[in-house]
Amino acid sequence: MPVSQYLANIKDTVQSAWEGMTVTFSYLFRRPMTVQYAGPEKAREKHELVQDTLPSRYRGFLEVDLAICTACNACERACPINVIAIEIEKDPANPKLRVMTRFDIDEGKCMFCGLCVEPCPTGSIQHTREFEGTQRTLSNMVLRFVDPAKPAPPYKVAKGATAFPRAVLGSITRPLVKAWDSPPPPLPIESAEEAMAHAAKKAH
Ligand code: SF4
Ligand code: SF4
Repeated sequence: MPVSQYLANIKDTVQSAWEGMTVTFSYLFRRPMTVQYAGPEKAREKHELVQDTLPSRYRGFLEVDLAICTACNACERACPINVIAIEIEKDPANPKLRVMTRFDIDEGKCMFCGLCVEPCPTGSIQHTREFEGTQRTLSNMVLRFVDPAKPAPPYKVAKGATAFPRAVLGSITRPLVKAWDSPPPPLPIESAEEAMAHAAKKAH
């Protein structure tokens, strides 16, 4: 290699190293762009929740607004892996009416594909921006939107209605996820006979 080429290579190396280090050193004097993620409660209070900074189309944990849920089962049917469990029974107070006694979503099983959201006629079921759900067992990651002690009547769509008032997205799921931190209620355990009776009831 000629000496001139050798010297030119050294010059290029020094120049590119200088340019790189200039950029690096400039960050020593700038305000940090990062925020503390987790950590002690006090540190978190100072910062915005990460969930609130995510894009609105983020597919986090699902949420059902029962106030506009028609109990049509479209979401349950659309889910390819049976994550959603809805049970509808006759209203004990008025057997002519139906009520939802169960609307569970197993977030430990959900693959966040969004297929259940598409067919919902009222926008009741939606993905939220909630994603934090540390749990010791996957079976505890079930969101229960209906309290069996307070069955939910299906929403009746007014004739010609095209818009449906929905609770602020995340306002229902966030407290449910927060409750995961407390000891979970025991899951209902079905005997084999009960499971078969349940499956037969759903088939009709
Ligand atoms: S997001 Fe996908 S996997 Fe999860 S409940 Fe909906 S359809 Fe099922
Ligand atoms: S959430 Fe939507 S799709 Fe699912 S049962 Fe209710 S209205 Fe039907």
